[in-house]
Amino acid sequence: MGSLDTLRLTAREAKKLLVDGEVSAAELTKAYLDQIAAVEDRVHAYILVTADNAAKYSTKVDREMQAMRGPLAGLPIAVKDNMVTEGVTTTCASRILHNYMPVYTATAVRQLWDDHVVMLGKTNLDEFAMGSSTENSGVQTTRNPWDLATVPGGSSGGSAAAVAAGEALWALGSDTGGSIRQPAALCGIVGMKPTYGAVSRYGLVAFASSLDQIGPLARSVYDCALLLQHIVGKDPRDATSVALPAPIELPTAARLDGVRVGIPREYLATGIEPGVRARFDETAARVEELGGRCLEVSLPHTEYALPAYYIIAPAEASANLARFDGVRYGHRTADADDLITMYERTRGEGFGPEVKRRIMIGTYALSAGYYDAYYGRAQRVRTLVRRDFESVFEEVDLVASPTSPTVAFRAGSRTDDPLAMYMSDICTIPVNLAGLPAISIPCGLSDGLPVGFQLIGPAFSENRILGAAHALEAAIGFELAPSLRDSSAGPAGAGAPDGEASGPAGGGQR
Ligand code: GLN
Repeated sequence: MGSLDTLRLTAREAKKLLVDGEVSAAELTKAYLDQIAAVEDRVHAYILVTADNAAKYSTKVDREMQAMRGPLAGLPIAVKDNMVTEGVTTTCASRILHNYMPVYTATAVRQLWDDHVVMLGKTNLDEFAMGSSTENSGVQTTRNPWDLATVPGGSSGGSAAAVAAGEALWALGSDTGGSIRQPAALCGIVGMKPTYGAVSRYGLVAFASSLDQIGPLARSVYDCALLLQHIVGKDPRDATSVALPAPIELPTAARLDGVRVGIPREYLATGIEPGVRARFDETAARVEELGGRCLEVSLPHTEYALPAYYIIAPAEASANLARFDGVRYGHRTADADDLITMYERTRGEGFGPEVKRRIMIGTYALSAGYYDAYYGRAQRVRTLVRRDFESVFEEVDLVASPTSPTVAFRAGSRTDDPLAMYMSDICTIPVNLAGLPAISIPCGLSDGLPVGFQLIGPAFSENRILGAAHALEAAIGFELAPSLRDSSAGPAGAGAPDGEASGPAGGGQR
């Protein structure tokens, strides 16, 4: 075996190496554990690396090859730490769950375990998935491997950074308002949020149940499809899960002939950075080169999506997080003489500031006398946002937008301004409100940092989205791997030319 380049290896390639006997599951796993050992002290993507388990299990896969053969057997994966894993702590990056040991496993993770994937560990996130930079984590702040002075996005920033830094082959994340797509965009990888209900939420610690969805983060669209294939399905334990009308296909499309792609004018009016806009326009031009057609469309209620989301998501969060009371899970205050004081102190000590802010907003929005004015109204706006998409999808097959209005921002630059942080998801949130599937693929660099291109489709159009994204991905040819430079690290770090990456494919990206 030659040395494995974990910064570039795709799951598709890794699978072939395994099948051809050119590498063993143990060797493959070790390559990721070695990369973790080499860079994790700079990236901080993982809350927990389950190195011993991973090494042991991969050896077992090799030994029991016959019994454990399967399409994903022996492929290592990272899992966002808001999916419960039996016997492996699940913290949601919160002090209130710092010691929580689940007694069961989330269905999506269970399906992968049953397929004999090798879990490398649990990745960092904004506490309870509330945030857009992973800086709300109660454990640590993850850094973006493209520039360690910047954030990886969030809330699945740990999963995205792990994949981008070659510390994982691929990963699971969750997306309530953009938390898979936005970090994928900021880290230069592919991330997909499936149609609401396509993947079971059983065992995903609930943030906003009507919006939450598990999905893949990977280095290619093909890998995304491959992983998605193995986590979708109706689950008797999640009443909101549904069977897809057709199985997920591995994408092969190279052209976009006849595909109509709508570009919503409202999305381009929302403070998109010039560099992001330029990459977006170039990618839209590629759609046409591949035989597709771009049309301007209108989603008139876009401007109300963000405010509606910031009523609905906190309202659901306030209800969901009521279960953390110091009795049933995790942390309990050391210092209380009566039950009410115990609840209050436990929650006061256990939750971080953003989670408290959301619980307060949500509780207020749901309180008697305000329910109609806030929650009821936000739900009506949600219906309008959904109808906007429905009518646009009568004219076009897909909708395209930048994934994030900006590239990765500097750590600390938005932490004092929740509204600026909330704006990070302006292009992704409407998709969750409407329950639709969407993907983000890298479409080039701006100031040396990756830009994401979002494709949104009607409910259950996963195959259409994956096919189009696959064709575009090949045309874009984004192959850069991050350099782990640190632009804040004085002359040496700052001296590195912008966008310097370890790959030869730099030309044509800018
Ligand atoms: N950034 C959004 C929020 O803070 C979305 C988070 C998510 O998708 N989990 O709510």
